[in-house]
Amino acid sequence: PAKSYDLVIIGGGGAGLSAANAAVAKGVRVVLFEKMGILGGNTIRATGGINAAGTAIQAEKGIKDSPDLFFQDTMKGGYNKNDPELVKTLATKSAASVSWLTDMGADLSDVGRLAGASVNRAHRPSGGAKVGPEIVKTLANKAKQSATLSIFTDAEVRSLLTNKQGAVTGVVVRIDGKDYKVTAKAVVLASGGFGANNEMAAKFNPALKGFATTNHAGATGDGILMAQAIGAALVDMDQIQTHPTFAPDGNEMVTEAVRGNGAILVNSAGKRFVDELETRDVVSAKILAQEGKIAYLVFDNSVRKSLSAIESYLKAGFVLEAQNLADLAHKIGSTSETLEKTIKNYNDAVLSKKDTEYGRSDMPRTLSEAPYYAIKVTPAIHHTMGGVKINTSAQVLRTDGSVIPGLYAAGEVTGGVHGGNRLGGNALADIVTFGRIAGENAVAYIMKK
Ligand code: ADP
Repeated sequence: PAKSYDLVIIGGGGAGLSAANAAVAKGVRVVLFEKMGILGGNTIRATGGINAAGTAIQAEKGIKDSPDLFFQDTMKGGYNKNDPELVKTLATKSAASVSWLTDMGADLSDVGRLAGASVNRAHRPSGGAKVGPEIVKTLANKAKQSATLSIFTDAEVRSLLTNKQGAVTGVVVRIDGKDYKVTAKAVVLASGGFGANNEMAAKFNPALKGFATTNHAGATGDGILMAQAIGAALVDMDQIQTHPTFAPDGNEMVTEAVRGNGAILVNSAGKRFVDELETRDVVSAKILAQEGKIAYLVFDNSVRKSLSAIESYLKAGFVLEAQNLADLAHKIGSTSETLEKTIKNYNDAVLSKKDTEYGRSDMPRTLSEAPYYAIKVTPAIHHTMGGVKINTSAQVLRTDGSVIPGLYAAGEVTGGVHGGNRLGGNALADIVTFGRIAGENAVAYIMKK
C-alpha cells in the first residue's frame, strides 16, 4: 500500500463496500483492507433479504409499508433495547439504500416476509438467487470501476493510529507477514462481528461456549477490540443471536424462508413445540429445550417447489426425503402415528386459519403433497448485536459520549441498531444504510481538514 490515503476502510463486507462506494463517489482516495482472501465477509452468506419500507418495488406489488411501521417492528423485535435514533435512521433511509443498489444493477425485485415483520419488506433477487452474493457482487463490481479506490485482500488491520488529541490518523496493516503504517485523514471501521470467535462470545455470554457458528472465519471481533483500545464505548456485547435452524449435517444455515413458506418444526418425537415464526431467540431456546438439543424442519413438495434454496440443500445432501409421512417419521425417530397426527392438526389449522396450539399467524399452505422432507437443525451463533457505539452520523463514541475524531463505523462491528435481537433482513439494511452514512460523513470530515 501507499504510505497515505484520504480514507482507510477496514473490512470488505457489505458495510465496507458500501462505505467505499459512497466515498469514491465524492472523489477521495480510498484504500480498503480485507483480511481474508476474498471480499464478502458474512454479507455474502446472507440469504433472507434486505428490509426496506416504502420502496418503489413494494408499491408496484401493492404492499403498504412505512418507515414508522418498520421502526416499530425493529424496536419490538429488539425488545426495545435498540438505540431508537439509530433505528429511526435505518427505517427512514432503507428505501434509499435499496434504490441505491438497484440503480447499480442489483436485482431486488422479489419481496418476501421474514419473521418479525408486519408486512413483506425483505427485498431479494427474483428466481431464488441469494441476496448476499447479489449485493456483494453489485457493490464490488461498482467499487472496482473506481480509479481512486485500492483494494487489498489478505491484508489484516492490526491497530488504529491516533494523534495527541485522540483523533484517528491511520492504521497498521499486516500484509505477507509485514506490518505497514498507513496514514489517513479518516478511518471507517467495517470489520464485522465476533460470531466466529467462540472465546470472545462465551466471555460475554457464557451459555454460548462451544456453540456452532454460521459465520465466516473472519468474524473474530478484531475491529471491536481495536476501537476499544483507543477508548471507544462498547454496547450490548452480551446480545448474541443464535440462528435457530443451522443444519449440522450440512454445516449450513437453513434460511428462515423455509419456515416462512410453510415448514413446521417438530422434535424427534414428531411433535410441534413452538410458533415457527416466533423471533429467532425464542425459537432457538425452544429447540435447545428438546431432546438432543435438535429439531426437524418438516415440509412437503409444495414448500420445496416454492423456494429454490431448498434445491441447493437437497443437492448438498442433508435433507431427509420420504414418499409418505410414516417413512419420514421413521427417519427422524418418531412414531408414524405421532407425526401423522401432528401434520393433520397443522393442516386443520391452515384450513381454519387458526393455530390454536401455538398461535402461528402465517400458514401459507398445508403439508399434503408427497414427497415429504425433514432437515435436522440446531441453533448456532449467527449475529453479534453488540459492538462499538455510534451516533446517527456513524461516528464512533467514547464512554463519556464524546466523538472520536476521524473514526466512523458501520455494520456488525457496531452495536445499538438491533438491540436484543436482530430481525431477519435487518443486517443487510443496516450495513448498506450505515455503510453509506459512514462513507459520506468520513468524506465530509476529510473535506473540512
Ligand atoms: P458487515 O456485514 O458489517 O459488512 P461482514 O462480516 O460482511 O460485516 O464483513 C466484515 C469484513 O471485515 C469481513 O470480510 C472480515 O474478514 C473483515 N475483517 C475483519 N477483521 C479485519 C481486520 N482486522 N482487517 C481487515 N479486515 C477485517
